[in-house]
Amino acid sequence: MIIPCPSCKKKFEVEASLIPNEGKMLQCGFCSEKWFFKKEPKKKVIKEVKKIIDKTTEKIHKNVPDSTEKIINEAEKAITKKNSKINNTNSVNILSFLVVFIISAIAIIILADTFKNSIKIFIPGFDIVLSNLYESFNDVFLFFKDLLN
Ligand SMILES: [Zn+2]
Repeated sequence: MIIPCPSCKKKFEVEASLIPNEGKMLQCGFCSEKWFFKKEPKKKVIKEVKKIIDKTTEKIHKNVPDSTEKIINEAEKAITKKNSKINNTNSVNILSFLVVFIISAIAIIILADTFKNSIKIFIPGFDIVLSNLYESFNDVFLFFKDLLN
């Protein structure tokens, strides 16, 4: 770590492990200035990082449109309904599972699309993956449409 002398401003390269956390008296080799040096506590850095994360999370929450939350709620309701139905009749209906799965997939894709710009920062090319997902999902949708007709 680099420690500057508070008097003559000369910078000294000091092994960080030589400075205890509670601080140490140092003396400048140039101007003989003596001063008490204390390392910047790591807690402060962690606090700053936490602040940034909190701010980003808040921003993302603000960007979620009401319609997305509605769709997620509907999907959750549908899953609960189907689950209780399955438990009651004790028979696993593959079709209802698929319906729930598709609704959940739609919700996830809409959610991913909403966060597209945020996720893009962390995962480059995410929007390309998303558009591929759209396409394959559309294929599945068309397949079921054909099946029903
Ligand atoms: Zn000095």
